[in-house]
Amino acid sequence: ALIVRHRMRCSGRWARAMAILKEFEEKCATPIGKLRQVADAMTVEMHAGLASEGGSKLKMLISYVDNLPTGDEKGLFYALDLGGTNFRVLRVQLGGNDGQVLKQEFTEVSIPPHLMTGGSDELFDYIASELAKFVASEGEDFHLPPGRQRELGFTFSFPVRQISIASGNLIKWTKGFNIEDTVGQDVVLELTKAMERQDLDMRVAALVNDTIGTLAGGRYTNNDVVAAVILGTGTNAAYVERAHAIPKWHGLLPKSGEMVINMEWGNFRSSHLPLTEYDHALDSESLNPGEQIFEKIISGMYLGDIVRRVLLRMAEEAAFFGDTVPLKLTVPFILRTPDMSAMHHDTSSDLKVVGSKLKDILGISNTSLKTRRAIVELCNIVATRGARLSAAGMLGILKKMGRDIIKEGEKQRTVVAMDGGLYEHYTEFRNCLENTLKELLGEEASESVVVEHSNDGSGIGAALLAASHSQYLEVEDS
Ligand code: BGC
Ligand code: MG
Repeated sequence: ALIVRHRMRCSGRWARAMAILKEFEEKCATPIGKLRQVADAMTVEMHAGLASEGGSKLKMLISYVDNLPTGDEKGLFYALDLGGTNFRVLRVQLGGNDGQVLKQEFTEVSIPPHLMTGGSDELFDYIASELAKFVASEGEDFHLPPGRQRELGFTFSFPVRQISIASGNLIKWTKGFNIEDTVGQDVVLELTKAMERQDLDMRVAALVNDTIGTLAGGRYTNNDVVAAVILGTGTNAAYVERAHAIPKWHGLLPKSGEMVINMEWGNFRSSHLPLTEYDHALDSESLNPGEQIFEKIISGMYLGDIVRRVLLRMAEEAAFFGDTVPLKLTVPFILRTPDMSAMHHDTSSDLKVVGSKLKDILGISNTSLKTRRAIVELCNIVATRGARLSAAGMLGILKKMGRDIIKEGEKQRTVVAMDGGLYEHYTEFRNCLENTLKELLGEEASESVVVEHSNDGSGIGAALLAASHSQYLEVEDS
């Protein structure tokens, strides 16, 4: 009788755990009708954000990039890319001649975590010192005409209100960064002062968001690139807008008639978004409560933690991992998205990757096959919601650009340059995103829209924009 009761209790627990999972799945549902509502809401917010400053949760920031690379860019330029857990510095010798990159070198450095939440000077001093070291290693293959100052494109992947192509004030930090004294400051000035403290003689010629850099880098090699999306630690998108469709722009109409817009779509929010109690809890316990809601259900910084939160609930309320709640499961961000991805992609018959991840990361051993299967299913629910919502966001942009339908007699190709670790490494996420975009666009229109992976295009893109905004350009032209 005792054993039977124990079995019943176990099956009762299992049923309870599955009920929690099922309820979560239902709340995460993204049927095609809902995705269309999200896309439409995105388009509406784009209009609102372009109409007036503060008119929408979508900041629709003016990038001051009104000309994208042509292939004529020439000379030695540097770039510095700060935005995730790593930052990169690179130099490139551009040969002009329809897009010739003669030589390129880079180095990637991880940012010590304490610098992400410390003081502004500490962060910028660290960056400038790494940059100075890199500049000191410049070899003979790179050539700067005598008497010239080195110039840099600064990719800074946070929301910045720009005042010109080479200055802008930080609106807020996102992702894991939180350094109070930088907010409101001109990040170019901060970097310039730090470079001076390193005795590094270099001028920031262009300040760009990573989406803008990716768009510029993509355009350099493909003329059909008109938008860029980042799906990495954070998420965002940029696209080419017609300048006269930007009511809040009071500057001169650019010669090109165009202006690249940094949407900051991570901050998008809509009643159509399928948010769950786990998302609300994640948000309120985050470094930036109430902000970046779209980002918090889509991007790499957060997906693993959503999975952890659901597992924790299953452990607490349904003894999913046995009588005690695994202590490590209570630690925020302990389960990272790359680990979630590894579990999700486990193709072994006994799901041994899932088993070893649970053991190594959460200290949970001896899980049954059905427990592991349930965990893969949970990863799938979280990744699918994120990927499908990303596709809906992209449809919103395509609609705004009038590129979601094929116009009579037009053979227009639309290329979206895409970058970020989530897209690059999480195959299930990427496939789901691409299939959903096809589904949303329909067969005919989806043939004219291409998503192109632009591997670290944002660094090169920033260097290209530094080249096209070089202080020596006028001299050369005359
Ligand atoms: C930032 C954006 C950035 C994106 C991708 C977001 O958190 O607000 O500026 O483009 O992450 O790196
Ligand atoms: Mg990046």
